[in-house]
Amino acid sequence: MSKSSSEIDLFFRNLHETDNPHEGEWMAVILFVRNLLPRLTIYSDDKKSEIQFEVCEQLMENDFSEKRLETVLALLDGYLLQTIGALEMEDALSQEKRTAGLLINEMNEMITSMHGANERQDHRLNSFREETAEVIREGSQKSHILSRVRGMFQELIEEFREEARVLNAKAEHFRMTADFDPLLTELHNRRSLEAHLKAAVEEFARSGTPLCLMMIDVDLFKNVNDTHGHQAGDDVLRALAGIVTTHAIQYGGFAARYGGEELVVVVQDMDLNQAAVKAEALRADVEHYDFRVRTNGQLDTPINFTVSVGVARLKVGWSAGELIRAADVALYQAKNSGRNRVCTAPK
Ligand code: GH3
Ligand code: MG
Ligand code: MG
Repeated sequence: MSKSSSEIDLFFRNLHETDNPHEGEWMAVILFVRNLLPRLTIYSDDKKSEIQFEVCEQLMENDFSEKRLETVLALLDGYLLQTIGALEMEDALSQEKRTAGLLINEMNEMITSMHGANERQDHRLNSFREETAEVIREGSQKSHILSRVRGMFQELIEEFREEARVLNAKAEHFRMTADFDPLLTELHNRRSLEAHLKAAVEEFARSGTPLCLMMIDVDLFKNVNDTHGHQAGDDVLRALAGIVTTHAIQYGGFAARYGGEELVVVVQDMDLNQAAVKAEALRADVEHYDFRVRTNGQLDTPINFTVSVGVARLKVGWSAGELIRAADVALYQAKNSGRNRVCTAPK
């Protein structure tokens, strides 16, 4: 740390002497760099020194005006934004790692059972060959030999069919792990969403098929976790996933979990207004959903939750990322104008 606490305390004294209308805010700034910043683990020590240095430079001007306050707050906002970006990246990476780990386990399991199946089939084919030779050696009637061989052959096919069925089920499970969210199992995961969006953007470029995206975020979800616990929070997300899937299925939408408590529906062949109408129906269903949380294994406490939705339509020349960003901006507009509403990006 480049600045000691006692050096920073000087700013407190200077601030008191100025009889300042923004004393409260300035104190918050000073307390932030003095007490809170050193304890934050999200910044490296170098970053902390850098932030502290920059803020102290401003404080040393002894100008505790509103304008200077805005400069300092903008500075801190900038650092905060950088950190949020880094945290999201960290989140995404750990999610990727978890999924990759699961996939590798599944792959190994499948390979083991395929080996097992191969060995069993080899063994079975060998004994089939021997049994057939045996039947022929016995030298009974030709028709008798034929029916016995046919019987053995059918048995063999049945067995192989069962092996194939088991392997198919495993392969299907493998596909689900690769494409669907581990918690909200009805929803596609981020990777699958990205692949879907890429294809849809290409289709838009090729044939002009309209492409809209709804970004759905639970309102004040932290409160649900804080009041009812993380488990209840997970249950709320599962209920929401159910509602979102039910809606998306009706119009061929692609429903995915974008991250944490943010879900996405991708719709093709719909203009922005139509997509906004669908989003509004979804929002209203969530608002009126009678959700009860489990406590001690029983469903009792009702929890009302709402979502805000941002809807955007892909414009010519846009990437998938730009579509997501436009929906995100609309979502923040919905949040800022009171939550529990749908906002659309500019046409
Ligand atoms: P806002 O209306 O502004 O969106 O408020 P918010 O509280 O929903 O916003 P914020 O993004 O600050 O908080 C989201 C919270 O969602 C924080 C995080 O702990 C929680 N969360 C994210 N993923 C999960 C999850 O899988 N399960 C649970 N229970 N909570 C989650
Ligand atoms: Mg959120
Ligand atoms: Mg939220």
